[in-house]
Amino acid sequence: MNPEPTHESANAGAGQRWATSLVCSRTGVVAALDAPAFLSPAGAPWLVEYALDPARGEQLRRALPGRPWTLWRYRELLPLADFERRIDLGEGATPLVRLRRTPCSGCSGAELWVKDEAGNPTGSFKARGLSLAVNRARELGAPGVQLASAGNAALALAAYAAAAGLPARVALPADTPPAIAARCRDHGAEVLSSPGTLVDAARLLSEPAGGGEGFWNLSTLREPYRAEGKKTMGLELAEQLGWELPDWIVYPLGGGTGIVGMHKAFAELRRLGLVGEKRPRFVAVQMAGCAPIVRAFAHGQESAEPWEEPHTRVWGLRVPRALGDFLVLRALRESAGRAVAVDESCLPDVAARAARDEGLRVGPEGAAALAATLGLAAEGAFAAGERVVVFQTGDPANYL
Ligand SMILES: *Cc1c(COP(=O)(O)O)cnc(C)c1O
Repeated sequence: MNPEPTHESANAGAGQRWATSLVCSRTGVVAALDAPAFLSPAGAPWLVEYALDPARGEQLRRALPGRPWTLWRYRELLPLADFERRIDLGEGATPLVRLRRTPCSGCSGAELWVKDEAGNPTGSFKARGLSLAVNRARELGAPGVQLASAGNAALALAAYAAAAGLPARVALPADTPPAIAARCRDHGAEVLSSPGTLVDAARLLSEPAGGGEGFWNLSTLREPYRAEGKKTMGLELAEQLGWELPDWIVYPLGGGTGIVGMHKAFAELRRLGLVGEKRPRFVAVQMAGCAPIVRAFAHGQESAEPWEEPHTRVWGLRVPRALGDFLVLRALRESAGRAVAVDESCLPDVAARAARDEGLRVGPEGAAALAATLGLAAEGAFAAGERVVVFQTGDPANYL
C-alpha cells in the first residue's frame, strides 16, 4: 500500500466522497448507493452518480500533485465508503507513450500515443475494474465473488478477492490458455470451465452449483463498479495530457466497460470544469470473426444482435453479446466515433513492428487496436495535429 500524507486522511473518509446514488443507464431511475446492486429493474447497468461542480474540480486539481500515482489518486471520483481500509495492489497509473518511429502513411502530422495497460496488477486493465468491484463487494458484505471471463478478468478477480479475503469462483471457456486457470487457483479461486464462449461459461454461474452460496456476480456491467474503475483510464489520460483530451481514442472492444467508463469520465471532468467542450472520438475495434458492435454501428442500430459463430483467438475480444451494447453504441455516436473490424492475420506483424520500432510489447488486443489505427490513418481519418491514443490493454504473456 502506498503511504498517504496524514493531512489528507481527514477529507478522504466516509461521507466525503462525491458519489451520491446509482442511476439506471436506461431509464434514469435512482437507487441508494450503499446497498448491493446488480442490474436495474429495467435489466440495464446501474451507473454511479456524483455531485460535481467547478469548485470541486479546483479542489481536486490542487490535491492531485501530492498524491501517489495509482488510480486511487482520483478518490473523490470513486465510490468507496471507506477509502483508508481499501484493498490496493497499486492499480492504474500506466504509461502514455508517444510513438516516434512507427511508419504511418496518412498520419500527416497526427500524433500517435499508446496507453500501455500491461503493467497493471495481473497484467491487464481488468485490474482497474475488478479492484473497484471487489472493494465494493467487500465493504457491502458479499459472501464471495464470481464471474465468467475470457481470461484476464478471472485473473484480476482472483487476485483482488485473495487480497480482500473473499472466496472467489471463475467460469472460463474450455479453450482458455491453461496458465490462466492455474494462476487463478494460485490465488485460491475455484475454476469452472465450459465448452463454447464467455456466454456459455456464464451459464455455469446461474446454475445452482455455480451460485448456491449467494456469491456476487461481478461479470461485465452486471454491477456498477467495474465501470468506475475503468473510468480512471479517462481521468489519467486527461491529467497526463495536461487536461487536454485527445482527439481520438482507439479501443479494443469486448464487453465495452472501458468505453462506457471513459465516456463517463469525460462528462464528469467537464462538470468539474477540468476539461473543455472537446470530446475524444471513440473508435471501437473488434475482430472480423466476432464484431457485433461494428455490425450494429454500421446498420445504425441502438443495440447489437448476438454474433452467432464467434471465431477469434484474441480472447479479450471474443464477446458475442454484451449487456452494455446500447451504452457503447451511444458513446460511439455521441462522440462522432467509428467502429472497425480487424483481420486476425495482420496481428503478428503489427505486434512485431511495435516491438522492433517502438520497444513495446503489445498483446493481441493492443495489436488489433494498433492495426485499426494504421488503417484509419491510411484512409486519411486523422487531421494534422490531432492526438490519437491507442489502448494496449494486456500483457501478451498472460496467454502463454
Ligand atoms: C477484457 C479485455 C478487453 C476488452 O475490454 P472491455 O472494456 O471489456 O471492452 C480488451 N483487451 C484485453 C486484454 C482484455 O482483457
